[in-house]
Amino acid sequence: MSGKLHIYTTEKLDRAAHLRVLPEQLQGYRSAPNSLVTTVWGHRGLFVSETAPVPLFLSALDASEIFEIAEEIIFLGLKDEQPILGAILPQSESPPPLRKGVFLDIRDHWSFLDPDDAAIMSYARGLAHWHRQHRFCGSCGNPTRSVEAGHVRHCTGESCGRMHFPRTDPAVIMRVTDGDWCLLARNAGWRPGGHSVLAGFLEIGESLEQTVIREVREEVGIHVRNVKYHSSQPWPFPASLMVGFTAEGNRHDPLVLDPKEIESARWFHRDELKASPENDSFNLPRKDSISRVLVEDWLAEK
Ligand SMILES: [Zn+2]
Repeated sequence: MSGKLHIYTTEKLDRAAHLRVLPEQLQGYRSAPNSLVTTVWGHRGLFVSETAPVPLFLSALDASEIFEIAEEIIFLGLKDEQPILGAILPQSESPPPLRKGVFLDIRDHWSFLDPDDAAIMSYARGLAHWHRQHRFCGSCGNPTRSVEAGHVRHCTGESCGRMHFPRTDPAVIMRVTDGDWCLLARNAGWRPGGHSVLAGFLEIGESLEQTVIREVREEVGIHVRNVKYHSSQPWPFPASLMVGFTAEGNRHDPLVLDPKEIESARWFHRDELKASPENDSFNLPRKDSISRVLVEDWLAEK
């Protein structure tokens, strides 16, 4: 891809991991006038209002009501030397009453966001999900507690003490082409008309290239070759990294669809995709996804 970063990534945030082990410094950030706080409730982030879906990063000085109810306060890093904190609120049926702001899903509003804010908010959302899923130790069942500014959970079991680290599940996503033709599929649960390139999760003991070949064979029954890395995109919805590839197939091979995964799939000519109506009859992949970039990069070749 042409040197452009995917949505949900940023180069502006210094994660400053060395600071995570300095509790006094982090305590200081909670009351520092230049600290900013992004707030997560469930999978939603705090925005100014529904009609103005601008993210609401609170100054730490205005965040005392948030800090009081937060179950975790995470140090996310430094942006232009400004400390960025993530406050994770407890799960509840309805959003906690706050003086300011409304909780929205960033995936519905990413296009209104500055790309750096989208990356920081999705990072906080992904960490919030990990904390919720790892309250107990998978080895001994005892409760875990958050340490290292929210980047490690430590098992409280006396004879265990295992450290749990945030995890990311890699998935491959691959553009399969044959000359001027590109294979796209749709899944029954998708928005009307929505089409995408194929994707699937890595299994233990597989290389990424092997996953590409296996997933294409499982989902549409054809063999692909010339598998090449393209780029990757964090996808913390809830916990993936999408690793993008290109591959070549033969459009005359019969497609045998996996009915559990794929509602329909076929080869589309470049001109047909360039003329996509982008409506309920046919949509290219979501604009915030690497899938879209894989298709658009290919369309731009000719
Ligand atoms: Zn344990």
